[in-house]
Amino acid sequence: MNNQCRACGSAMYNTKGRNLFQKKNAKLLLNFNLVTNNLALKKDPRVPSCICASCAESLNRAVIFRARALETQENFLQQRAGLPENDLPTDDETPGETSNSEVKAQDADSLISSLENELGGKTVQKIHK
Ligand SMILES: [Zn+2]
Repeated sequence: MNNQCRACGSAMYNTKGRNLFQKKNAKLLLNFNLVTNNLALKKDPRVPSCICASCAESLNRAVIFRARALETQENFLQQRAGLPENDLPTDDETPGETSNSEVKAQDADSLISSLENELGGKTVQKIHK
């Protein structure tokens, strides 16, 4: 069963598909398992053995991406090792959301009392009680 791609399932009408289980494609199978978190493909006559040219290219790109990301991570870890830990940014939030609203409430109270003073007390008290 070699007319479908093992990776994407699409039909392959030409001969550009590559058989994952041929010795010359051993690296391809290795990479396939690498980027699929070890799907551990096995040769089985009931399922396709080949992958299409498009999937082979995607696989190569994925392997390159993985290698680059791992290398970059390694570089960042080495850079970090040379830095003191107290330079690391903290995730602490600024404290006191409740105290902010308390301040606002106090401001409103003082605003009302100053209005009461201006109006002689009675008018504002009637509105608020
Ligand atoms: Zn494919």
